Amino acid sequence: MTGTLFLCATPIGNRGDITARTVETLREADLIAAEDTRHSRGLMEYLGVETPLTSYHEHNKYEKGEELVSRLLAGENIALITDAGTPAISDPGEVLVNLCHQAGVPVTSLPGPCALITALTLSGMPARRFVFEGFLPMEGKERREVLESLKKEARTIILYEAPHRLKRTLAELKDALGEKRQLALCRELTKIHEEVLRMSLAEACEMAAASEPRGEYVLVVEGRPPAEAEAERAGRFAQLTPQEHLQHYLDQGLDKKAAMKQMAQDLGVPKREIYDSLLN
Ligand code: SAM
Repeated sequence: MTGTLFLCATPIGNRGDITARTVETLREADLIAAEDTRHSRGLMEYLGVETPLTSYHEHNKYEKGEELVSRLLAGENIALITDAGTPAISDPGEVLVNLCHQAGVPVTSLPGPCALITALTLSGMPARRFVFEGFLPMEGKERREVLESLKKEARTIILYEAPHRLKRTLAELKDALGEKRQLALCRELTKIHEEVLRMSLAEACEMAAASEPRGEYVLVVEGRPPAEAEAERAGRFAQLTPQEHLQHYLDQGLDKKAAMKQMAQDLGVPKREIYDSLLN
């Protein structure tokens, strides 16, 4: 019978956060695929898990993925873990899950620690709609394009960042989103020095310049405030003549009355002023 791939979330700091079901699954699996076997051996010793470990990481995910799928098809049960948190979240995992789906191997997930969810819930930022960007692309065009796309993002934005790149990322976010934009800098979650600091991007840049950032960080950034979007819209339309502004809406299929109503809303003025400006 085909085995099952178990996605096992492991602690992001506090070892007590592993679930009882995950420990049992790790003990009973035939094999544990781990990102860094040396790193995970410590946790396994602490948990009293003696299941053999094999490495599955970013640089062998395709070949090793195929090998793991063959073992699953031969009936072995395999637990997948990463260095910390939930497999497949900014970690290798999605390739193996995909290979399993293609091969008809059952996959199940044992939920547990995940830095982005821990940070979002602690941030106090709107959690109803959010977007997870993981790590920003390192360089060049791709990075600029993501930053550009974030300018219009109204949902709460969650990013991962390494301490030695934090200063640069905060500076680029400040340039893209404006210095007043609020964020929660969530550091060392579930660890002794856990810290959640709410501040503006300008303040965060000052703080990162004053002392070298240390530890692990999640950035939870406020989405674009509606007032900012309104102001930009008003600014854009204020540059048009009243006739050009009217034509903009007629071209979109609005009738003249609806177009003038929309113009008044864009500029935040009474409809009467729109009639007058068009007559003049
Ligand atoms: N799979 C993990 C998860 O479920 O969150 C994420 C792994 S990703 C390679 C590592 C990044 O997650 C770190 O650079 C940091 O941004 C974030 N992270 C992990 N543990 C953290 C912690 N205890 N406190 C704050 N951020 C953490």
